[in-house]
Amino acid sequence: MTAPGVERRASAIAGDGLFTTRAFRAGERLAPYLGAARPERPPSADGRVFALEIRPGLWIDGAAEDNPARWANHSCEATAELVWDEAYGTAWLTARHDLPAGQEITFDYGFSLAESLSQPCRCGSPACVGRIVAAPLRPALRRHLRRPGTRSD
Ligand SMILES: [Zn+2]
Repeated sequence: MTAPGVERRASAIAGDGLFTTRAFRAGERLAPYLGAARPERPPSADGRVFALEIRPGLWIDGAAEDNPARWANHSCEATAELVWDEAYGTAWLTARHDLPAGQEITFDYGFSLAESLSQPCRCGSPACVGRIVAAPLRPALRRHLRRPGTRSD
């Protein structure tokens, strides 16, 4: 693992996940999203998508195993968010609120509705919509799936 304060280990959500090994404060950087910059979306690796669209014409290919953020799972109640640092050209998983040691680090993969149809979510949160989809699209997906949520976001 390349980032201090975090480790990769088995996750109840899916495969391996990324976890804190110490407490972090809200807004603190957890791990960088490392990868080569590309002008277009990189191909998927093993059928999984590890690509971050920073803006049109700038993608970060995060598929390399030494990208610590690669191991972070999606959750409908994410503990982190990706924040782009323009000065250093690096995206950082950043704590959305205070996190204790041993907390799984998750973020919103931001998938489209079309992408979400083949991507079940098993995050286990009360707000889970059952698919990996960007937060703003969740109310529409809930209506589509006729799966009542516990929140009115
Ligand atoms: Zn979920």
